[in-house]
Amino acid sequence: MATVTTLHFREALLPSGFARDVRLALDGGRIASVETAADPLPGDCRHGIALPGLCNLHSHAFQRAMAGLAERRGPTADSFWTWRETMYRFALAMTPDDVEAVATLLFCEMLEAGFTRVGEFHYLHHDADGGHYGDIAEMASRIAAAAGASGIGLTLLPVFYAHAGFGGQPPAEGQRRFICGLRDYARLLSASERAVAALPDATIGLAPHSLRAVTAGELREVIALANGRPIHIHAAEQTREVDESLAFSGLRPVEWLLREAGAGHGWCLVHATHMTDAETAALARSGATAGLCPITEANLGDGFFPLPGFIDAGGAFGVGSDSNVEIGVSGELRLLEYGQRLALRQRNVTTSPHGPSTGRALYSRAFAGAAAALGVTAAGLAVGAPADIVTLDPAHPALAGRSGDALLDGWIFAGGNAVIDRVWRNGREVVTGGRHVRRDAARRRFAAVLARLAAA
Ligand SMILES: [Zn+2]
Repeated sequence: MATVTTLHFREALLPSGFARDVRLALDGGRIASVETAADPLPGDCRHGIALPGLCNLHSHAFQRAMAGLAERRGPTADSFWTWRETMYRFALAMTPDDVEAVATLLFCEMLEAGFTRVGEFHYLHHDADGGHYGDIAEMASRIAAAAGASGIGLTLLPVFYAHAGFGGQPPAEGQRRFICGLRDYARLLSASERAVAALPDATIGLAPHSLRAVTAGELREVIALANGRPIHIHAAEQTREVDESLAFSGLRPVEWLLREAGAGHGWCLVHATHMTDAETAALARSGATAGLCPITEANLGDGFFPLPGFIDAGGAFGVGSDSNVEIGVSGELRLLEYGQRLALRQRNVTTSPHGPSTGRALYSRAFAGAAAALGVTAAGLAVGAPADIVTLDPAHPALAGRSGDALLDGWIFAGGNAVIDRVWRNGREVVTGGRHVRRDAARRRFAAVLARLAAA
């Protein structure tokens, strides 16, 4: 029988908005009851401010190992494409043990930063020579093991990656660990389902890598395997990709996906940075989620997503940590808004004159959009919903004297990760006092891997 834990919060963000004196009873991994204006009872665990945990809709876990290691200028103008060369070197050097160690610490860090589920866009499939492991989902099983050790919710997105450029160009040598034929991809999907089966609420989606890596015919075959599961694809991150798409098909990437592939509900277009006004409105109306990764997009010099037009047209978005160069719910949301402010020379771009505060608008929109992208319901702190709960420390100076939506503004714009106190995932307390319960062991293992990779 699952034990019932009762938590009392000074304030909590419920689906209807912030409420005071909220009691939640957790039964196993679910919220069994919600009371508001409730006095704490003896036996309640008493805490400050509760939020429903956010989904991180886009991550490449292994890239955490190279965070901060591509910050030296090369002989020519540095770009996304030179960064990618460093990334390929790391991808080729990492063993399954390395990836598990790096992903375990990363997932602990995500929980400490307020993310309670991750969409792992997983493409490092094969051994260093490009040969299949005995279990084709060996690497996927390492991601699942890392999710299990950290406790984070997992939506695993095995990637179909076949080509080096538009028109089915043969893959480059540095891409050999990512490459699959369609028949192997179908096997990989089934094996990945088995790899996550022991996790309490893990799900699977499909991830054709990009229009660079997948032909139109292959994309149709991948879509046919989806069977209602989410479909994620990188799109229009770089202007070069847009130019190549135009040269190849006469259509821009997002335009092509909407028109030719039927992208819509159940899809996540990751980045979608470079769109015309017409594409922006069409993507918003399609029901697909835009997967925005502001910190990585800034690090890679991608550009600015056309957020105001997208919001005006009713578009759904979430955020992802992508290259994992820095981990934080508050950091991603803050930079999303600040990028718009810098580009447009305006303030409070994500909300409207009669709307909620900017922090609340960012959080609520990203909460709903990312959950949809990862194939889970965005129920929030409600009866029957998963007990994925993040608490903020009311004693942190960034929250002093605040209540309601201003708490989110204080966290996102003034306090950052240090404001987070505790995190329950699937009903289990995994972060206490801002520290994951397995932080120390995960850091030691990560450090040993990085020392070995640096020496190699
Ligand atoms: Zn990505």
